Amino acid sequence: MEKAELIEKINRLKKEKNAVILAHSYQNIEVDEVADFVGDSLELSRKAKNTDASTIIFAGVYFMAETAKLLSPKKKVLIPRSEASCEMADMITGEKLREFKTKHPSVPVVCYINSTAEVKALSDICCTSSNAVKVVQSVESKDVLFVPDRNLAAYVQTKVEDKNIIPFDGCCPIHDQITPEDVEEQRNLHPNAILLAHPECRKELLNKADFIGSTKSIFEYVKNSRENEFIISTETGVVERLERDYKDKKFYLINKKAVCRNMKYITLDDILKSLQNDLFEVTLSVETAQRASLTIERMLKIS
Ligand code: SF4
Repeated sequence: MEKAELIEKINRLKKEKNAVILAHSYQNIEVDEVADFVGDSLELSRKAKNTDASTIIFAGVYFMAETAKLLSPKKKVLIPRSEASCEMADMITGEKLREFKTKHPSVPVVCYINSTAEVKALSDICCTSSNAVKVVQSVESKDVLFVPDRNLAAYVQTKVEDKNIIPFDGCCPIHDQITPEDVEEQRNLHPNAILLAHPECRKELLNKADFIGSTKSIFEYVKNSRENEFIISTETGVVERLERDYKDKKFYLINKKAVCRNMKYITLDDILKSLQNDLFEVTLSVETAQRASLTIERMLKIS
């Protein structure tokens, strides 16, 4: 089917089914053409919650669709490709978190939003890359367990010196493989460019960055900046959208491997099939949903 025909069919069905389509900024850029909202995972789920849509189609990875379900329990939440999971979220299971907690009894757990509902349900409070510092500061205990991203934990530790953050040994493989040598290479090629980095990158890399922030903050930084050239140290989808939106500026992806394959599964064709056949519905047990929602609510109260 031609792209224009696909888009027309999706838009028609979307109206008929009272659905809203969310697209994460790392998705195939063509998905934006049918999306109602594009952005960070929590921001998208919050926006979907505030619509009167009865169905949410989440073009992202599985934990994101779960988060949308937690925030909108009465809406039907669909993810067009059920195998689209997050490699970082999958590094910690409920069982692994229980073991981690057993090694550090009575220490509160902060979980990054990039985690499964099961892990959120076993944690005390959730955080995003934007509010992680504030969330950790809000925890009363000096010791804090931080799951699953050791790189975000290390970044937060530099900002909250009065806390002792005990990180789980997980990471985003896409951000973790970026090295200071990549920075050197890009800086040599583009001496006037400034480096914007996501805090899921390693500390050695972040030490060289001109700005560190979430995906949303990187977009905002570019929007408000007078600079014209940027080296982007995060997933390639961000570069594609920046190039589309700021044609007068130049963007350089930090290295060619900064591509999350799980984020690239979903196509327009998958979205159409999802709308036509209600594929694939996200469901959560009542207990997991209740506990995980509390973990998110605690975060929302302080951010
Ligand atoms: S880029 Fe990393 S954190 Fe984001 S979905 Fe892919 S594996 Fe997960």
